[in-house]
Formats: sequence, structure tokens, C-alpha cells
Amino acid sequence: MDVQDLVGIGFGPSNMGLAIALKEDFASQTAGRKLIFLEGKTTHSWHHPMMLPNAKMQISFMKDLCFLRNPASAYTFVNYLHQQQRLARFANLRDFNPSRKEFDDYLRWVACQFSDITRYASRVEAVLPVEHRGQVTHLDVRVRNTLTQDMSTLRTRNLVLAIGGQPVMPVKYEHPHVFHSSSFLQRITQYDNSRPQRFMVVGAGQSAAEIYQYLIDRFPSAEVRVVCSGIGFKQADDSAYINEIFDHAMVDRFFNLNERERSALLSRHHDSNYAVADLALIEQLYREEYEASIGDNRQRFGMLKFSRLISLSHDQGIHAQLRSTLDGHEYSYEADVVVFATGYHRRQNHTLLKAVSPWLAGSEDQPRLTRSYTLATHESFAPRIYIQGMSEATHGLSDTLLSVISRRSHDIARDFVEQSTMQPVHQEPVL
Ligand SMILES: Cc1cc2nc3c(=O)[nH]c(=O)nc-3n(C[C@H](O)[C@H](O)[C@H](O)COP(=O)(O)OP(=O)(O)OC[C@H]3O[C@@H](n4cnc5c(N)ncnc54)[C@H](O)[C@@H]3O)c2cc1C
Repeated sequence: MDVQDLVGIGFGPSNMGLAIALKEDFASQTAGRKLIFLEGKTTHSWHHPMMLPNAKMQISFMKDLCFLRNPASAYTFVNYLHQQQRLARFANLRDFNPSRKEFDDYLRWVACQFSDITRYASRVEAVLPVEHRGQVTHLDVRVRNTLTQDMSTLRTRNLVLAIGGQPVMPVKYEHPHVFHSSSFLQRITQYDNSRPQRFMVVGAGQSAAEIYQYLIDRFPSAEVRVVCSGIGFKQADDSAYINEIFDHAMVDRFFNLNERERSALLSRHHDSNYAVADLALIEQLYREEYEASIGDNRQRFGMLKFSRLISLSHDQGIHAQLRSTLDGHEYSYEADVVVFATGYHRRQNHTLLKAVSPWLAGSEDQPRLTRSYTLATHESFAPRIYIQGMSEATHGLSDTLLSVISRRSHDIARDFVEQSTMQPVHQEPVL
């Protein structure tokens, strides 16, 4: 059976960054190596269900896939602008944060340049150990072609898992009008915006704020409520000193802390990334609520403050049971549509790795990860498994974001070229 040197699962920004680092920084060492990236979607797209009109990046264009590691790279956002003949006009905008639409187009431009090592419509369903005389020597990656439903297997010496997050639904409820923000634009088109509807949005972060804005604007006859455990949307702290928490330099500092110190640092800066929204959007929403309160109309939209959703049921409409976060009293709200903007979880021991979990060091819930993003494994396990974007607990707050992709990619690529010929490869010290 043909054996790959490296199989990447997912071709979002994390593995695109890795493809760039392998090609630009380690060209001679990877020449002749067999590398392939498998992407479940049929074509490139970056969070399209949340590609809302005018949505902007929450990060500088300099934190693209490679610029902070190598500003002279051919794959920078600046070079993309140059190739598209928009560099001067972009400069005239005097804005570091491009639109999400433009960043998605940049990512597509990068993805197209790696078509020789990517395979789309290829959803990985399992990773299986290949054993020989008591040693795991390779991994078999089971892949479904999402167009034909055919299954195939790729055998590899090394694996990089970069599959992003899985939607969190804090209240499990199967209903055609209850869905997560990760499918927002696909689902919202089924509703007639001239009809009166009652929307309930659950969440307090950027996605909740953007969806609230969208519903207010696009559904002028609808009632819109946002369930929020606090007093309202809270501003993301993106001031200069706080932003240093996302710098690559923080990864070593963070990794070298003990578990208690790491979780203290994470919770201290939690609101630089979670359950917070951009100030400009918050101010706009507050003004719109204020303007709507003038006159004697019933307020069409607003927040259900200090409230937590505890259950859903349905009869004619969807019945939401809510509990006050102040005094615990319960009350109900009736909606036609419920949208969860409640984020994503990223678990290292994702079901894809279930079959190899007996060889992973650490607990089943928390496999141990090395500084170079490999899963620590038992001696009898030779392949290396790298994890991207799922190690906030060990590598810090920037891990799920674009901020560190350029440097993390280099760390992984270097480890891969240094270690991939050595077997076994599990001895790196871990904390
Ligand atoms: C709406 C939205 C806006 C955001 N905006 C920003 C921002 O402005 N700045 C920022 O820093 N971060 C932002 N983020 C965070 C986001 O996580 C990162 O920007 C980035 O997408 C992470 O890249 P990734 O490759 O790790 O994961 P993803 O982008 O999620 O890519 C993972 C890829 O893996 C594929 N995949 C999943 N499972 C399989 C499988 N089994 N087989 C094959 N392929 C699979 C998916 O189809 C996907 O293409 C945003 C997130 C969202 C949801």
C-alpha cells in the first residue's frame, strides 16, 4: 500500500498555514515527500454561514497565514492585494481589519495555489492504528468522498488534525426552527421577512451581536430578543497591552506554566476573546434599541437580561424556560425561531482519534500535548499526530485564532521534517 509522509485533516487556515510553511521554509527537506490535505467541503469556504453583510475581521491583516513569520512570503495578504490590483486602494481605507468577505477571498487565493496537495469532498471518518509485531507503525485514514459516498483509505506515517470547532448547543433540542449560528445563513433564508416572526438569539458574543443586528435590519416586522446572562453585550478588550496575550511569544511562557497557573491566566483574559463583542457594533445596537423606544410602539427588539435558557419545548411556538441569573426566578418566553450563538468546543480526543486513544498519554479527556503540538504517545506508537487549534489549555488563548497560525505552522513543519524519519518518535519531554 502506498504510504504518505503526512496527511492533514481539514484545509482551513491552520493547515493552509502549514502547507505554506512546508513549501517556503522547508522546501528542500520536503522535496519528494508525500503530503496530502483532506478537506470535507467540496470547495474552499471560510465560515460562510456567518458571512453577514459588512462583517469585518477582528484581527489585523498582518496576522494572516504567514506575514508575522515571513513578511516576504509569496502568500501574504499584502501580496494577495497586490495580485488583485487593490493594494493602493486598500491602503487608502486606512483600516487594518479587512472585511470577512475579503479575507475569505484571500484564503481561497491561497488554497488554489495548493491544489496539487489538497483533496476536497474528502471527509475523514476515522483514524485507525496499523500494528506490526506489537508496534503501531502507521495510521490508516478512512475517507468518505462526500459526492459519491465512496470510502477509501490513506496510509500515513504522520497526521495533522486541524478540523476547527464543533458547535455548542447548551440546551439540546431537535426542532426545525432551532439551530446554531454555524448554519445561520443557510437556515435563515427559509423565513419570509415580511411576516411577523419571533426570534430568540441565545448568546452574548460577537456572533450573537451580529445575528441580532442582521435580524433587526432584515426582518422589520419581527420581534427579536437576545438571551444574555449579564446586563448586555460586553466590549472585547482589544487594547494594545491586552493584545499581547495573542502574541507568539506568549506561547512559550504559557506552556511553561503549571496547570493551575495556566487556568488562572486563561480566566483572567477570558474576556479578550469569549462572550464579548466589538465596541462599534455594541454602540450601534444600543442606539438602535434607543431609537426604537421613542414613541408608543411596543419595543420590537431588545435583550432578555440576566437570563439563562434552561429548557425548550414546543406546542404552537417554541416555549423557552428561562432562569434569572440574579435571583433564580423562572419565567418563559415564546418564540418561533431560536438561534444559538453559543460558540464551539474543540476537543483533542475528538471521535476521529478514538481508535488510537489507548496509545495516547494523559487522560482520555485530556491527552498530553508537547510544545510542538504532537500528542504524547506510548513507546509502541511510532506515528506522530499533530493537533492544531485545540490546545488552548496548554498553549494559550491565541490557539483557536488566526494570531499564531504563521508561527505555529513553522513549529509543526520544523518538527515534522526533523522527526519524520526517526522511529519511534514519542520521547519529547512533556509537562
Ligand atoms: C464567524 C467566525 C468568525 C471568525 N473571525 C475570526 C477573526 O476575525 N479572527 C480570528 O483570529 N479568528 C476568527 N475566527 C476563529 C476561527 O477559528 C479561525 O479564524 C480559523 O478559522 C481557524 O482555522 P482552522 O483551520 O483551525 O479551523 P477551521 O477554519 O474551522 O477549518 C477547519 C476545516 O476542517 C474541515 N473539516 C472538519 N472536519 C473534517 C473532517 N472530518 N474531514 C475533513 N475535513 C474536515 C472543515 O470543513 C474546515 O474547512 C472566527 C470564527 C468564526 C466562526
